[in-house]
Amino acid sequence: MDNKSIIKKLKLTIQLMELHEENPFKIRSYQSAVITIDRGEISLMEMNPEELQKINGIGKSIAEVIRSIIETGSFPYLEEMLSNTPEGLLEVMQLKGLGPKKIKTLWKELGITSTHELMEACQSGQVADLKGFGKKTQDTIIAALEFQASNLGKYLYAEIEELAFQLDGNLKEVFGENNVVRVGDFARNLEIISNLEWLIKTENRSEANTKLNEFEGLTQNYRLSSPFTWNGHLNDPEIALTFRLYPEEMFVNEFLIRTSSPEHLNFPANDGQTMAHIYRKKAYTSPEEAYEEAGMQYIPTELREGYFEVEAAKEHKLPKLVENEDLKGILHNHSTYSDGKHSLREMAEQCRDLGYEYLGISDHSQTAVYAGGLDVAKIERQHQEIEELNKELAPFKIFKGIESDILGDGSLDYPDEVLAKFDFIVSSIHSVLNMDTQKATARLLRAIQNPYTTILGHPTGRLLLRRDGYPIDHKTIIDACAKHNVAIEINANPWRLDLDWRWVHYALTQNVMIAINPDSHDKNTYNHMHYGVLVGRKGGLSKDMTLNALDKNEMEVYFEKRKATIKK
Ligand SMILES: [Zn+2]
Ligand SMILES: [Zn+2]
Repeated sequence: MDNKSIIKKLKLTIQLMELHEENPFKIRSYQSAVITIDRGEISLMEMNPEELQKINGIGKSIAEVIRSIIETGSFPYLEEMLSNTPEGLLEVMQLKGLGPKKIKTLWKELGITSTHELMEACQSGQVADLKGFGKKTQDTIIAALEFQASNLGKYLYAEIEELAFQLDGNLKEVFGENNVVRVGDFARNLEIISNLEWLIKTENRSEANTKLNEFEGLTQNYRLSSPFTWNGHLNDPEIALTFRLYPEEMFVNEFLIRTSSPEHLNFPANDGQTMAHIYRKKAYTSPEEAYEEAGMQYIPTELREGYFEVEAAKEHKLPKLVENEDLKGILHNHSTYSDGKHSLREMAEQCRDLGYEYLGISDHSQTAVYAGGLDVAKIERQHQEIEELNKELAPFKIFKGIESDILGDGSLDYPDEVLAKFDFIVSSIHSVLNMDTQKATARLLRAIQNPYTTILGHPTGRLLLRRDGYPIDHKTIIDACAKHNVAIEINANPWRLDLDWRWVHYALTQNVMIAINPDSHDKNTYNHMHYGVLVGRKGGLSKDMTLNALDKNEMEVYFEKRKATIKK
């Protein structure tokens, strides 16, 4: 149990209270508790009830609730509401854009208690006929249902990473360190994972199968399993699992095949042979041996996607991929000046304590009113504080940036004389996301042509498993960035990972620098850089082409030189 799990329970409670139309004051007290826990640095686990009550925003009764969640995983009031709610309705509550009032109407008026029943009622037009719904709402619900169905059983890499490594450790304990290896999508660090897969070396498959079934929390699907393959799922969270059982002499071949995407396996290698041919040719003693015999450079696991890696490996031109340790600073972050959780000082000190040489702060610009965007007076105050902090924290340095909204017509959010005050500018789209390819591309192009744009922020605005990005012509955008010397961000927030890694290689061939930015709104999410590095590597990103692999002095020179080219 941790703060996050407690918040989850409280949020569920709030949803159910709204559904059952509980006392609004009571609902508000739960909401303010969630905000308090979410904001603070407190670890609820280490507090006794008296200490809990003293926290502003948490009263006596919620302190007891939290205690009960920590000790038992739930509390009586929540259990009571759950028992009065049809189970399938909880799934309906997960749907995007459907508030508790509407859900209650669907439940009470149409008797809907599951997503399946909801879909049927939409298809027959019953939902549109409900008071306060209409055809448009019905269409939105259908779209949300389809989106939910298509994402069922899928997880962000970041959501599943810790769990996968735990299981990896457990498997190694049982089968031996060298007899267990991750394969499949997770081994290739794909951004969305729907199946966790391992290869296990064993000379006795039925014994291995028995051992697997002794693991807690796994369910085997016998119909999908075979003597070579254990198929099933992890119970909580529910995600598909595959264990492939192979003897020593087939282990390396299987490893190479099972870590490759179909496109990689079908990619032409040498003399009319595909990569699959090479991987199956003979029993290798190591993966390296397979590439060596084919006269190719070793292809790291995460590159086995069938994009550029085979050609590059044949020509011995695979780059040395960027690593976490190569990153010298963190650009694109928010503070309490806009919608961040921590002050400028807190953001800077944490960044410095993690060993970085600089922080690029880029709060939201003035149009982003919802996010407390900075007007000109606020910018001046922030710059003053940055200068004072820079004296105090030297040699550590805060660079003055802004995340400028790209307005509807592609212009930036301040007049030139204000833009000129910053060291760097991240230009991003945050509003009016509903655009066709032509409109979205034109809007971005104008922002890229603006000489003040240093970095193009999250180019498509996508939120993985939540919403698609607006469609853009990637090639045109990347070409323009090359022409105007604009770096492109890999936004390292695990929900974004935007620029998509599938376009990173093309950007690199056009000499476009990539910035790995966490877009932190919280000093505790700098570690998201790790996810940016993982997908950057998938696109073939090297240290040389990573903007924030420049050290502080080089970064200073880069920003200055870039600004010097702007014609006044
Ligand atoms: Zn943004
Ligand atoms: Zn941002």
